[in-house]
Amino acid sequence: MRLLKHYIKSFMFLELLKGLSVTGRYLFARKITVQYPEEKTPMSPRFRGLHAQRRYANGEERCIACKLCEAVCPALAITIDVAERSDGTRRTTRYDIDLFKCIYCGFCEEACPVDAIVETHIFEYHFENRGENIMTKEKLLAVGDKYETEIAACKAADAKYR
Ligand code: SF4
Ligand code: SF4
Repeated sequence: MRLLKHYIKSFMFLELLKGLSVTGRYLFARKITVQYPEEKTPMSPRFRGLHAQRRYANGEERCIACKLCEAVCPALAITIDVAERSDGTRRTTRYDIDLFKCIYCGFCEEACPVDAIVETHIFEYHFENRGENIMTKEKLLAVGDKYETEIAACKAADAKYR
C-alpha cells in the first residue's frame, strides 16, 4: 500500500507541486532582505565584539597586569608579559589577544577587576595580512581611546541591570 501511494505521488508530481507552492508563497511575501551595510539589524546590548583596553581619565592605563584574564581565557588567546615600573606598580609589557583563537565568550571582561579589558560592539573589522589577527596592547589601547565614550556608557547601563 505504501509503495502504491509512493508511485501515485511520483506520477502526479505532488512533491514538486508542494515545493513550487512554497516558492510561490515567498515570491509574493514581504521581502526581508537587509541591505547591509546601508541597513543594519538591531544589535543586542549583550553583543561581544572587538576587544579594547581602557584608560582612566588621566590617561593612565587601567590594566594592572594581574593576569586574571589570561588565566580565565578558555581559548588560551591572551598572552601577557609583565614588568614592575619604577613606582612599584605592575604593568604589562606585552598584552596580545589572538582573534583567531578567541571565541568571544566575554570571560576576560568578566574577570577583570578594573574594567580594563572590554569587548566593544564593533563587528566590522577584517584582516588583510598575516599577523593582523593579533591585537597588541597598542592596538587595544587605540580602540579603547577611540570608543571610550561608548564603552563607558555601555558599562554604566550594564551596572544598572546587575
Ligand atoms: S573573549 Fe573569551 S576567548 Fe576571547 S580573549 Fe576573552 S576570555 Fe579569551
Ligand atoms: S586586563 Fe584586567 S584581568 Fe587582564 S591583566 Fe589587566 S587588569 Fe588583569
